[in-house]
Amino acid sequence: MPRRLYSEEHEDFRATVREFVERNLKPRVEEMIELKSIPRDIWLEAGKQGLLGLDIPEEFGGASAEDYRFNAVLAEEWAHFNAAAAACFGIHADVCPPYIVDLGTQEQKARWLPGMATGELICAIGMTEPSGGSDLAALKTTAVRADDGSGDWIINGSKTFITNGYQCDLVIVAARTDASKGPKGITLFMVERGMEGFVNGRKLDKVGQDESDTAELFFENVRVPDTNRLGPEGMGFIAMMQRLPQERIGAAVSNIAHAKQIFIETLAYAKERKAFGQAIGTFQYNKFKFAEMITKLEVTEAYLDDCVVAHAERKLSPIDAAKAKWWSAQVQSEVLDECVQLHGGYGFMNEYRAARAWRDARVTKIWAGTNEIMKELIGRDLGL
Ligand SMILES: Cc1cc2nc3c(=O)[nH]c(=O)nc-3n(C[C@H](O)[C@H](O)[C@H](O)COP(=O)(O)OP(=O)(O)OC[C@H]3O[C@@H](n4cnc5c(N)ncnc54)[C@H](O)[C@@H]3O)c2cc1C
Repeated sequence: MPRRLYSEEHEDFRATVREFVERNLKPRVEEMIELKSIPRDIWLEAGKQGLLGLDIPEEFGGASAEDYRFNAVLAEEWAHFNAAAAACFGIHADVCPPYIVDLGTQEQKARWLPGMATGELICAIGMTEPSGGSDLAALKTTAVRADDGSGDWIINGSKTFITNGYQCDLVIVAARTDASKGPKGITLFMVERGMEGFVNGRKLDKVGQDESDTAELFFENVRVPDTNRLGPEGMGFIAMMQRLPQERIGAAVSNIAHAKQIFIETLAYAKERKAFGQAIGTFQYNKFKFAEMITKLEVTEAYLDDCVVAHAERKLSPIDAAKAKWWSAQVQSEVLDECVQLHGGYGFMNEYRAARAWRDARVTKIWAGTNEIMKELIGRDLGL
């Protein structure tokens, strides 16, 4: 089905991203798997090509794109390459900048945004803790005022499963500043590499997305000046809730783009691979599987396209973003499972993209709010 949300300008931008992927990412997959991260020189090159600053105002080195369709093009092209690139670049360039752009002071924006646009400052966001991620309001990391009258804050606690956690130079940390106020006692802070007591933990050993850097973060009496507080005291939880729809629509776009790319590759495989003297795709059973898959992908894509347009117009509701996020993760998982099956034994071999994609996709039903939490939000909205 022809898509209607992109103009020639978006497609030109897509061509730039594709060229970047061909030149800089595809030749270095093995290296990224080995490193469990995207090498810094690739970040810097992405910065040079203007791929990290869409949401960053021009005065701070970004593109001031203000049209979420460009972000969606970027998310699709990262995901066509692989899910790990979509996650790492997505957190840095799609999820984190709005926090600083919307909540930061002029001084904070001038300090951090230019480096984020060039890739010199890699950014992460630390919400989830070892004790839980779904119940964000119950987070335990604390920030208390230093008792020396400096106005500084002392942060203690830890975060886990943090994308870009090992490499990050900057992390947006959600911490409890008032134990008596529940969600209204949470404040955001920018913690910077090199601050005493801030430790980027080991790169976690994951089931999939071998190329992505996912780590724990530790904060032991980290002294953070008040000038690193992002937004007003006690407004951290609301700030996260307001920005989660962008994270969720970005994740949803990646999910379907990722599954669609592997679908295309599997279709080509099924036209070539023979059994019983004929191409495996031509068996009626498999033909029907392909018909089901493309229908699921395109029907979901149509919903997502509407969400992207709504978000570009600042009209996407958190509930519609939740629907997009859980449904796309479900479709992605079903499609990729079929793609593995259609590859037979090769579908279980890491050297085949379908195998890796299937492993890589498992997390999308878990992160950015689990599918259960998405359904909880949608159910509540129905008055239940
Ligand atoms: C690879 C990866 C990257 C990630 N990147 C980041 C990141 O960059 N920053 C960040 O902050 N976090 C990140 N996360 C964390 C992710 O967002 C959390 O894992 C997720 O929110 C779930 O939290 P949890 O793991 O603590 O599970 P829990 O909250 O312990 O949930 C366990 C199970 O209980 C279910 N559950 C919980 N509450 C309910 C309920 N009310 N009703 C029904 N079921 C419920 C959940 O759905 C889940 O199935 C990442 C995770 C992974 C795996």
